[in-house]
This record gives sequence, structure tokens and C-alpha cells, in this order.
Amino acid sequence: MTAPLLDVANLTAAYGHAQVLFGLSFQLHPGEVVALVGRNGAGKTTTLKAIMGLVTATADRLAFRQTSLLGLPTYRIARVGLGYVPEDRRVFTDLTVDENLEVGRKAARAGVSPWTPERLFDLFPNLAEMRGRRGNQMSGGEQQMLTIARTLMGNPDAILLDEPSEGIAPVIVQMMAGAIRAMKAEGVAVLLSEQNWAFAAGISDRACVIERGEIRFQGSMEALMADAELRADTLGV
Ligand code: ATP
Repeated sequence: MTAPLLDVANLTAAYGHAQVLFGLSFQLHPGEVVALVGRNGAGKTTTLKAIMGLVTATADRLAFRQTSLLGLPTYRIARVGLGYVPEDRRVFTDLTVDENLEVGRKAARAGVSPWTPERLFDLFPNLAEMRGRRGNQMSGGEQQMLTIARTLMGNPDAILLDEPSEGIAPVIVQMMAGAIRAMKAEGVAVLLSEQNWAFAAGISDRACVIERGEIRFQGSMEALMADAELRADTLGV
């Protein structure tokens, strides 16, 4: 098996004195889409924040491409090739689509086949039609796509997406699923936090089910689909 891109062993995290992650271990391999699923408050967002150095975390190992991320500031973590799209959209509302992408390009690391706006518009055809539109004239779903597109302009090897389908119209959710499949086809690995089980199931190779800050199940989507009791218990579906 190839070396993992992201290697997480015994990850814990806390907000002040309140510990919320209790020793998570999982890996993300090149070109894979892995879904972190679980109920509200299970610890999905905190897992992504811990990887990005945004909460107090400890781990036996937390490495990306064999570089330890422990203790690195967030901007350095982005530079080793890990993109992060938080739950709240981060478009520059006064800038156009093209200008937002240009901001992403300025922060880019060298890539084997660097992203360009034209390549991104193949993934997000609806953005191509609004290149001159400002962020504040776009719907929440369109802003979410633009945030992902801008992050890809940095040429990451992997991207962490926090609930990309949340609060957006069903037609945009479909487009988002298509874009994530296309990202994978382009070789970008994706670690996804999701509450929308149907969305996650349609695009992911594997799932990690998180329950109260611990991994309760890890395996293929097929195996999770086949275990109705586990899904009902941990996901309520
Ligand atoms: P959601 O889908 O609601 O985002 P989640 O699985 O992503 O759920 P987290 O947001 O990681 O869950 O929250 C895990 C636990 O940490 C919850 O009990 C939550 O109340 C707590 N928590 C989250 N953020 C903070 C914070 N800033 N300060 C203190 N506790 C927090």
C-alpha cells in the first residue's frame, strides 16, 4: 500500500479543560475521499481543526507527507499541501469570482499541474458563468464552491472540507458532489466532515464514524451501508 498522505494516530483535542477528542487514529491516502460522519457534536469539525492547528491537540503522530504538523502554525500547514475549507464560507465579498481566485493563486505552492481558473471552471461550471460577479451577489452554495475553488488554486495535495453540503440548495448539492468526484479524479485527496449521510455515501471511498470523540467504525462505504444497526445508532439514519 502507498504511504498515507495524512497520518493521524491517537489524536486528542480539548477546548480549555473540556476534552472532546479521545484518541482518533485514521489515514488518508493519495486520491482518496474519506468521510468523517457522526451526529451533531460528535467531534467532526474539531478533528479538522485539530489537524489544521486551530485547537489544542496532542497525538502520537499527526503527519502530512511524513512532515509532522504538531506545533506548526496553520499557514505553514497549508504550505505543506493541505487545503482547508471551514464551515463558514470565506469568500472575499467585495471581490469578483476572478479576483477571489487570483487571491488563491498568490498564496499557491508549486504544483505538478497547477490549477488555473479555466481548469477550475470545468469542475464548477456555474462559477464560469459568474466570473465578474462579486461574492456578496452569490448564493451560499455558490460562495461555498468559490471557497473550494480558491483553496484549490493553492495546489493542495489534499483538502479538508467541513460540511460542504450544509445549508445549500439541493441542485447545488448535486453540483458539489460532481465537483468533489472531479477533484478526486484530478488526484486531490479529500477528507470530508458531513452530517448529510446520502451526500457522503455518494462520493466517499471510506468512512470514519465518530461518536462522542472516538472512532466507532472505520471501513468501506459498502460495509457501513450494510450495517443498518450501526447507522441507526451513530447517524440516526
Ligand atoms: P457539528 O455537526 O454540530 O459541527 P461536530 O461533529 O462537528 O458537530 P464539533 O463541532 O467538533 O462536532 O464539537 C464537538 C464537541 O466540542 C461538542 O460537544 C461541542 O459542544 C464542543 N465544542 C465545539 N466547539 C467548541 C468551543 N469553541 N468551545 C467549547 N466546546 C466546543
